[in-house]
Amino acid sequence: MIPLKLSAIAEFCAGELVGADLTIEKVLTDSRADCTGALFIALVGERFDAHEFIDVAEKQGAAALMVSKKVESALPQIIVEDTEKSLGQLARLVRQEVNPKVVGITGSAGKTTVKELVASILRIKSSDNKESVLATKGNFNNHIGVPLTLLELTKEHEYAVIEMGANHQGEIAYCASLAMPDVSVINNVEPAHLEGFGSIEGVAKAKSEIYQALDANGTAIINLDCEFASQWQEEFIDCHKVTVSRHKDAHFSANNVHLNSAGLVTFELIKRHLTGKESATISLQLAGFHNVSNALVAAAICSQLDVDIETIKRGLEEAGAVKGRLNLIAGQQGTLIIDDTYNASVGSVKAAIDVLVNKAGEHVFVFGDMGELGTESAHYHKEIGQYAKDKGVSKLYATGKEVAHTVEAFGQGAKYFADKEALIATLLSEINSTQIILVKGSRSARMEQVVQALQESQ
Ligand code: ATP
Ligand code: MG
Repeated sequence: MIPLKLSAIAEFCAGELVGADLTIEKVLTDSRADCTGALFIALVGERFDAHEFIDVAEKQGAAALMVSKKVESALPQIIVEDTEKSLGQLARLVRQEVNPKVVGITGSAGKTTVKELVASILRIKSSDNKESVLATKGNFNNHIGVPLTLLELTKEHEYAVIEMGANHQGEIAYCASLAMPDVSVINNVEPAHLEGFGSIEGVAKAKSEIYQALDANGTAIINLDCEFASQWQEEFIDCHKVTVSRHKDAHFSANNVHLNSAGLVTFELIKRHLTGKESATISLQLAGFHNVSNALVAAAICSQLDVDIETIKRGLEEAGAVKGRLNLIAGQQGTLIIDDTYNASVGSVKAAIDVLVNKAGEHVFVFGDMGELGTESAHYHKEIGQYAKDKGVSKLYATGKEVAHTVEAFGQGAKYFADKEALIATLLSEINSTQIILVKGSRSARMEQVVQALQESQ
């Protein structure tokens, strides 16, 4: 973080500083981390109150505290009304002080992938200073993760690539009000987190808050393949708009999409502008056709940040797969495992099945529950069973509460197991070298345990 005096922070957050005035360069909310020299902000959540961990933060080296009630401590403390709100205010201050170009990324699937692709391109563009790109770490994409990410900004940073997720209305609006993106994208809209939003229209509305936050100089990257694209084009008339599509004419589109022998995607990137068009052949290190969309979106974002097409090509080609997202791994007895266990939504499961059936061999699908689909859960789990069947998957091994519907829809060739141990035992006894095995499920299903078992005891 840029150096800030406690007195300045207190003033900005309308708080009261009790104790010495220090300069702080780091802010933390997790008392288990190395807090050396940091301002520890005591957040209050539904299940915890970090005011109880002040001692721990102090032992871990915290230099100062931000609290919502005065605490017994020798450390200087800033007392504010609401620590979560002040965390946001502080993040906004730092964002304004550093003033980098900010990219905001939301959508139901592919946010982290697009973020990694954009960061890869921007790091090549500014190769003389690799420190100039700040990107969300891991999946730190909510109302706490976004401000904490922004608080990492230093004067070195020219770009901030910020992933924004949401499980309720208003969360993206809040995150965008802190990050103030110059370029924003809704990668796609799918029935994910329906429990929080009620319907797919509810999901679309929540995501569109990211466009709402753009000013007249801002740019909305619009994915024309998304069913809400025309609605957004009509609704957000004030900002610039750049379109992408895999199937229609757009500013950024793809031609000659195919998978190479390793299952990785190659395509021709086409950029249209007023005076003509440019193109480049792109060979991604990523599997799955949906990554063409992710790459087009990343290209559109970076073009808007004045990156030329050659640099975009290099950045896209250098970006590697993120763990648990369609990783191709050698399994025991000559099998090939497609590890897509990081998470699962309806669209991403279908995308993964497409990758599976595009590979030569016997197609085996190991499936755990998709979470947070609310009252529509049974319907979507059935839809996946039917989809897998229609695409020619020959065997389905499933475990979880909801996948019973998938097994029923798939019919012959499907096996349901009461737990993962039973599934693994049967799978291991039945595998053979011709098989390609896709393993997928939501984070809560922890299907990576199946991948581990398939890799182990080789
Ligand atoms: P989260 O909501 O957990 O943060 P995310 O939006 O960041 O997820 P990724 O982590 O990039 O998404 O990918 C998650 C899953 O979605 C992976 O299984 C991946 O294969 C799949 N996926 C990635 N991009 C797309 C896309 N454009 N369309 C459909 N599925 C996708
Ligand atoms: Mg993510």
